[in-house]
Amino acid sequence: MTSAVRFQQVSRHFGQVRAVDGVDLEIAPGEFFAMLGPSGSGKTTCLRLIAGFEQPSAGHIQIFGETADGVPPYRRNVNTVFQDYALFPHLNILDNVAYGLMVKGIGNAERMKAAGDALELVKLPGYGARRPGQLSGGQRQRVALARALVNKPKVLLLDEPLGALDLKLREQMQEELKSLQRALGITFVFVTHDQGEALSMADRVAVFNNGNIVQEGTPQDIYRRPKTRFVADFVGSSNVIAPDLMASLGGEKRWASLRPEAIHLANDGVEATIENASFLGAATRLGVDLRGSRLHVMLPAGAPVPDVGAGIRLAWQPADIHYMDDAA
Ligand code: ATP
Repeated sequence: MTSAVRFQQVSRHFGQVRAVDGVDLEIAPGEFFAMLGPSGSGKTTCLRLIAGFEQPSAGHIQIFGETADGVPPYRRNVNTVFQDYALFPHLNILDNVAYGLMVKGIGNAERMKAAGDALELVKLPGYGARRPGQLSGGQRQRVALARALVNKPKVLLLDEPLGALDLKLREQMQEELKSLQRALGITFVFVTHDQGEALSMADRVAVFNNGNIVQEGTPQDIYRRPKTRFVADFVGSSNVIAPDLMASLGGEKRWASLRPEAIHLANDGVEATIENASFLGAATRLGVDLRGSRLHVMLPAGAPVPDVGAGIRLAWQPADIHYMDDAA
């Protein structure tokens, strides 16, 4: 099958800075793909390479089987939703959404119809006459989305599009984006540094570090089977256990990860001391000292929580220990 987006050994260097460094990547048509990683890891540059705002220093990019080499942004079937929305403050919402169609020379009636449809899609019908300044942050975010969708792109690029929203609105928009993507069947490529966002929305996640992809897979894969310490640390709240401690607990002398929710209290478990406890509503998170290492333990809501300073015994299933390829 033809990939929606294909990177072959793509690099983008800025002088000494290797922003993107030899990335291979295949994104399937209709996929919701997240690029996840810390600040400066090269995610945005990858997105800009797909959009055509940057050209590779080396390597090749294909979009739906066609080379993107030398193809300008407006000739790629790709649109971008930016974090700051980049709406025109002096244009009303309908004209903001219709702008791309006007540039393409589409007639007024057809343009207004398409813009109205797009506003309906993002649940903002009737807002067309307002200016961006008269909308809330969440509504502006939807307008930015409508403005990208009106062009009927085959690939929609989203660069931290929910970054400016408060938590509740973010969660709501995460669900809406996901349903919209399913309904439209458009390939979404989403950049975020928020692991929760990537795991909850994406079909597949690529974890970036230092200009390269360190692991790629389904959210479940990435969460349960992190390949490296970096991924285990960055994705979720895994306990990273050093080789010496692992060996002393009867495991292999290798780095391993163990999810906090996989640890439970057991009378025949290993001794640990509670250093702190945080009530999170659906669960209680303990910080414990286990043979000099700090581990987190997630207890289900309703479980009795021993006092801070108390000794407890902890156990887990051997299958929940996940050994990692390297200690990087
Ligand atoms: P963030 O989450 O902060 O946006 P990111 O993972 O998207 O980070 P990039 O924006 O892709 O990272 O940047 C990767 C590296 O390339 C950084 O070190 C950045 O400073 C550098 N970089 C990006 N664009 C340029 C540029 N135009 N000129 C010089 N260096 C750049």
